[in-house]
Amino acid sequence: MTKIAFIGLGNMGGGMCANLVKAGHTVAAFDLSAEAVAAVAAKGARAATSIADAVKDADVVVSMLPAGKHVLNVYFGPDGVKHHAKRGTLLIDCSTIAVTDAREAHIQADLSGLILVDAPVSGGVAAAEGGTLTFMVGGTGRAFEKAEQVLKGMGKNIFHAGGPGNGQAAKIANNMLLGISMIATCEAFNLAEKLGLDAETFYKISSVSSGQCWSMTSYCPAPGPVPTSPANRDYKPGFAVAMMAKDLHLAADAAYASGAEIRFGEQAEKIYQALCDRGFAGLDFSGVMKDVKGEIPR
Ligand code: NAD
Repeated sequence: MTKIAFIGLGNMGGGMCANLVKAGHTVAAFDLSAEAVAAVAAKGARAATSIADAVKDADVVVSMLPAGKHVLNVYFGPDGVKHHAKRGTLLIDCSTIAVTDAREAHIQADLSGLILVDAPVSGGVAAAEGGTLTFMVGGTGRAFEKAEQVLKGMGKNIFHAGGPGNGQAAKIANNMLLGISMIATCEAFNLAEKLGLDAETFYKISSVSSGQCWSMTSYCPAPGPVPTSPANRDYKPGFAVAMMAKDLHLAADAAYASGAEIRFGEQAEKIYQALCDRGFAGLDFSGVMKDVKGEIPR
């Protein structure tokens, strides 16, 4: 089994780290929050006191951090991973970060004699805890093969998306689609209701018709038809509006940089950001239903 250092034990990383322990790996865990470290130590990880302490014996480093600046700093900043890891150590960054930051991390890793894959995830905290995440991996074929063995301990579906940064590219393109389709689903349910159909009736029809999509059948934003969806618990997340806004900003930046037209993506970015600005960053992103229905003051 592999010696792993895990850095970033927040909402997602805590469960992922615990699953690596469960899979039989030897895991040293570090986070700036002592509480987060203690929580995974209680599940069998070794509590590391610094990045240096976590990575000193590691063959693989896994990270789950908030944004690109944290990732670049943890790996390549002063006293970062590159100063303490053995040559040839595999770095698996699972955070959602800009494609440009991911590609920069690949270059820095190469220069430092380390091997990196960007491996962002689809699936929220429940999937992180249950070990059912989907991983989208960018990096060389050889690096992917090595990473896959570790990722299997945390996820169900593991895809090689291509070269450096392609994992992040897959992730933001997917989440842009999700952000747009959720708003479209809310608008369709609202229109149907205004025209006299209740949510259950519209769901029965549309979920087996051409409007069917994941936002409707797995995460229905109207209360009722899908009992597990956040709509049935007053839009408690789940996946918060702030997270969706973050992913849409990343998608928009990448679109401008690459010259891709994203008219609906831009609209979706504005809609979720406006919800954040109005104090609803913590609402589940399907709570955009409240906005569509005019239940949130503009
Ligand atoms: P979080 O804020 O709960 O966790 C991040 C952790 O990183 C925190 O515990 C923080 O203390 C730690 N950290 C920050 N800087 C550090 C440093 N220098 N050294 C050590 N630890 C440090 O965030 P999260 O919800 O777990 O999300 C993590 C990543 O996963 C993000 O990039 C997010 O976009 C992505 N993501 C989240 C979800 C979700 O549903 N929460 C789903 C998919 C992807």
